Amino acid sequence: MRRPLVAGNWKMHGSRAENARLIDELLANIPAEPLATCVVCPPYVYLQEVGRLLRDSVIGLGAQNVCADPTGTFTGEISATMLKDVGCEYVIVGHSERRLVYRESDQLIARKFAAALGRGLVPILCVGEQLAEREAGRTCEVVARQLDVVLELCGAGAMEQGIVAYEPVWAIGTGRNATPEQAQEVHAFLRDRIGARDARIAAATRILYGGSVKAGNAAELFAMPDVDGGLIGGASLKADEFLAILAAAVPGDE
Ligand code: PEP
Repeated sequence: MRRPLVAGNWKMHGSRAENARLIDELLANIPAEPLATCVVCPPYVYLQEVGRLLRDSVIGLGAQNVCADPTGTFTGEISATMLKDVGCEYVIVGHSERRLVYRESDQLIARKFAAALGRGLVPILCVGEQLAEREAGRTCEVVARQLDVVLELCGAGAMEQGIVAYEPVWAIGTGRNATPEQAQEVHAFLRDRIGARDARIAAATRILYGGSVKAGNAAELFAMPDVDGGLIGGASLKADEFLAILAAAVPGDE
């Protein structure tokens, strides 16, 4: 059975004081044994301090990005080894803001995924189509391309450790989430795509949905058979909202 996961992507939000308040509230109210894995992904500069606040708790720590190269002279970059060193277990790669604003290619993202795996981090690979691509009927083509580059470089075995997050770009930060049926269709497609290489691994791969998930819509999205939790942006900055989303992620009986 796949254990669901709910990860909060804080993006470029927070301050030392705000982070401390948010973590305090999360730790005070999270169940002792949540049914889903809970992760927060603060900005790089706060990772170590948030990791200290989370020590020995049920909340895991993730980063929002990682350098594709394991070592080297790369001004401004952060390696997977460094993320491990400050206590990260997870890292988001290929978020649409990285793909679109910072022009990260499918190939670069696949190398980031590999770099994370190589250091024992769990990479969360974001894939998703833009609105024009959906309207042109190209959703599956786009997400297949984004996934395949990773599967080609790392092999389907990489998905024993890695996670996929389907994040339609038109749903991110817009308040307009995919319907549960739209999400399910793409999640099933992604699982089949992995399954074409290895059915056992595909059945165990966690595929998260991201894009305007809130307490009010999480349960219906997470009830879909191939939706294994969520990657949460805006709603992860409010403890009560994030914890309500976490509570909506319960293991299915596939
Ligand atoms: C995200 O940034 O990954 C995201 C899903 O954002 P939001 O939940 O705010 O749409």
